[in-house]
Amino acid sequence: MEYSEKVHQYYSLTEQHQIRKIIIAVISVIGIMILADIVFWLIKWRKKSYTDPMSKLHNREYLTRCMRKNKKKLAGKPLPLLMMDIDYFKQYNDYYGHVQGDNGIKALAEILAESVRKKDLVIRYGGEEMLVILQETTADCAKDMAERVRKNLADKHISHEKSKVSDRLTVSMGIYAVYYNGEDIFELIEKADELLYQAKRKGRDCYVCA
Ligand code: GH3
Ligand code: MG
Ligand code: MG
Repeated sequence: MEYSEKVHQYYSLTEQHQIRKIIIAVISVIGIMILADIVFWLIKWRKKSYTDPMSKLHNREYLTRCMRKNKKKLAGKPLPLLMMDIDYFKQYNDYYGHVQGDNGIKALAEILAESVRKKDLVIRYGGEEMLVILQETTADCAKDMAERVRKNLADKHISHEKSKVSDRLTVSMGIYAVYYNGEDIFELIEKADELLYQAKRKGRDCYVCA
């Protein structure tokens, strides 16, 4: 073989090798991009499945998951539960309309999200019923938080002409302040719910703590 032919073959092989390298690099980049997209989509989907779309608060599924995950960590520590419900909300909806009703729920959700620490949980438990679970906090701190929520809601000046307790939107709350012993969280929620109904019977726009 002539020298020039050998040189030509050499360069042709090197070129092929480089093309192969480029193809592998392009495929790798596309693969990584697809993988990143899938991971991003999965995280988004997971977040969405744990979030209430209207209030942007967490939902019950998130609460169940959180409690399952942190049961051991929370055991033996104080875990006050705050259950709240908007007063005379049926009348509010009837008088101001459903869209305005939704805005009332969103306003309360915003106040709650702003009032808690990162490690606390705020759940939209039912229609206009919200649950707050405070971690490693005393009953007094839970009461302070309840007062803060009532004050912040009053400061928003959301008119409620049909309420029998105030001319503004108000909430009633039940605070069940316990040490967590690993029991089913829904048992504790039931207790907080009973206290909430005591607050309703007491006249609303207040809290009852046990
Ligand atoms: P109480 O003071 O005893 O709580 O009286 P209430 O009228 O608030 O009674 P209740 O808590 O049973 O009323 C719940 C009402 O909340 C009924 C329903 O029309 C309304 N509601 C529930 N979910 C939503 C929602 O997503 N949007 C709106 N606008 N209203 C809702
Ligand atoms: Mg209710
Ligand atoms: Mg209500």
